[in-house]
Amino acid sequence: MPERSESDSRKLLRRLRDTLATPGRGQDRLDAITHLIADSMGTEVCSIYLFRDPETLELCATEGLNKDAVHKTRMKLGEGLVGRVARSGLPVNAADAPSEKGFRYMPETGEELFSSFLGVPIQRVGERLGVLVVQSKTARQFSDDDIYALDVVAMVLAEMTELGAFVGDDGGMRALHKQPVMLRGSSGQEGAAEGHVWLHEPRVVITNPVADDPLTEIDRIREAVGQLRVSVDDLLSAESLDKEQKAVLEAYRMFAHSRGWLRRMEEDIQRGLSAEAAVEREQNAARNRLEQVPDAYLRERLQDLDDLSNRLLRILTGQGRDTGAEMPENPVLVARNIGPAELLEYGRKLKGVVLDEGSVGSHAAIVARALAIPLVINAGRAVNEALNGDHILVDGDQGIVHLRPEETVARAFRDKIAMLAEAQKRYASLRGLPATAACGATVALHMNAGLMADLPSLEGSGAEGVGLFRTELQFLVRSKMPQRAELARLYARVMDAAKGRRVAFRTLDIGSDKVLPYMKPPEEPNPAMGWRAIRVGLDKPGVLRMQLQALIRAAAGRPLTVMFPLITELGEFREARAHVLRELHREKSLGHAVPEKVEIGAMMETPSLAYAPQAFFELTDFISIGGNDLKQFFFAADRENELVRRRYDTLNLSFLTFLQTIVARCQASGTPLSFCGEDAGRPIEALALAAIGFRSLSMRPASVGPVKALIRQVSLVEARAVIDAAREAGAESARPALMDWLASQQG
Ligand code: PEP
Ligand code: MG
Repeated sequence: MPERSESDSRKLLRRLRDTLATPGRGQDRLDAITHLIADSMGTEVCSIYLFRDPETLELCATEGLNKDAVHKTRMKLGEGLVGRVARSGLPVNAADAPSEKGFRYMPETGEELFSSFLGVPIQRVGERLGVLVVQSKTARQFSDDDIYALDVVAMVLAEMTELGAFVGDDGGMRALHKQPVMLRGSSGQEGAAEGHVWLHEPRVVITNPVADDPLTEIDRIREAVGQLRVSVDDLLSAESLDKEQKAVLEAYRMFAHSRGWLRRMEEDIQRGLSAEAAVEREQNAARNRLEQVPDAYLRERLQDLDDLSNRLLRILTGQGRDTGAEMPENPVLVARNIGPAELLEYGRKLKGVVLDEGSVGSHAAIVARALAIPLVINAGRAVNEALNGDHILVDGDQGIVHLRPEETVARAFRDKIAMLAEAQKRYASLRGLPATAACGATVALHMNAGLMADLPSLEGSGAEGVGLFRTELQFLVRSKMPQRAELARLYARVMDAAKGRRVAFRTLDIGSDKVLPYMKPPEEPNPAMGWRAIRVGLDKPGVLRMQLQALIRAAAGRPLTVMFPLITELGEFREARAHVLRELHREKSLGHAVPEKVEIGAMMETPSLAYAPQAFFELTDFISIGGNDLKQFFFAADRENELVRRRYDTLNLSFLTFLQTIVARCQASGTPLSFCGEDAGRPIEALALAAIGFRSLSMRPASVGPVKALIRQVSLVEARAVIDAAREAGAESARPALMDWLASQQG
């Protein structure tokens, strides 16, 4: 094979572009391209494999293999050498392909004649489209230069694919971003929404992957990188930066000023790519490296490079984040991931949120929950598949997203939304009524909150008060530690909005999954069991004291309820309580009004506390069970880990029996007891909790109606008998028995 020069490469790209510019069918173009590439690379074979679906590749065009195999030969992702390229996103270069590990012989193609194989991925940032292969009879290793040349060609093919160059009904490609797609993720917040896609970071469309004149393109890239450097330097010189932000921006600056990065992009341009395509090629390479890197720190740095590439593309194309596009009606936000502050900025105007990544406990999920916006997380490919304005259905209950749905799917979905709305109306009619069961017992229903935005739900849901106010949300959505006066103002507004109803303020619960953007978390092997919540508060009491002062000032004489997260033993509660008493004393001596009544409670989130000395139950004014954490520690199953978080049933009788122990101890000491984990908002779980003796539950506002409706229909005494009978019968969980019983009640 002849040595390849930069000008060969440029010539090939121009011929490619000219072929694509002539009118024709998608398939004809693919055929012409394979011919051109084989000719230019000096190989007998050139084949293009494209994804038919996310798991299957199909031979779509070939020069040199048996033409009858086109659109017949298929392989699974990871299968054979082609499948390996597709899965890894990395080239495979084999002088003797048949002896290569994983080689799969496909007799219909006639490829046994060809010994050497070079395959490179056809990909756009984050999106694998297919594989480009050349093969030749002579057993030879392709040079690095050949790999580079083929990769540059693949880059152009990827851009052309995006632009729809190979689309056709004739066996060519299906049009991207046109077909209905269903994505399966997980539920981050229940509810259903129909709307139109609003991409948090709109895709940059590259219309000119091939350079007309490399010198002009090199000028463009230098100029754009220059602008980028200035903008990063400007960011760095901002006065308000703290140490952490500075460190991140320093890393940005390092990349922006990296000579290697610019040099590589200039080489790509010399090969015939336009400035934009060169940026993307390097971004692809960085992404592929990113996937191979096990070290989290390095991965983050490569992520910085990814962000910088996006900025550079926006500078080059003029397609800013603010594209001037108007937000569509009923916007559904689609993003790879999003920070809590950004999500809060969009606020309630969003109908739904779909994240490619994210986790149930992520800050974005917490905010979405507070705003009661249906959220699907781990959707995988939503950002790649969606275009701004696409019709989208979000099923937050099932964790499913329908993009560009068929009309039948949309109709069925609308029925579901209508049913939910109908149910909401029914619940609204119960708003002023108590959750009194048929047996006469009444359960107090409270709501969980964490943002000012939650407070209007207090009226709407019919909750009696706020059983859990997660104060960390105010810390999480800021870029620096809030000041005491700022917090005091906010807490006062919360109390004003509650109009005398009780609000249980939980002191800062950080650590584990909740990491403040401005506080470097310590390196911990297992943060969920690490330095978190009250442990941080007691070891470094500055913030805790500041928060307590803010709460006392906000109360301005009104009653105040404070509770501490993750109390694990009596001593911790004593110490935390002493802080409150000290701050009350201090505020009084400073002449501030102190609350007329102060309740100091503990959250029971570790099993150990259930067996604490009697003095704990006597000293605490109330106990609130943080079921999310308590369950995770009881079952040793990480609440954040998708693999195990749903593995154990809350209605498992070991857990219910354990909860009954706590109920009994609280009854004996006369300590008010409540349950504020997510389970309190699930009707069957709430019923079981009420049946075993809980008379106070706190839940997300949207759950108050459904929980109340169920409790009002049944007798808690009977439900308790069903649970006891299930235990007697040796059942693992009370759920089947409870469900059968409920069905018989309704029948
Ligand atoms: C809990 O653990 O159940 C709880 C209410 O606290 P959080 O979910 O904020 O940890
Ligand atoms: Mg908790």
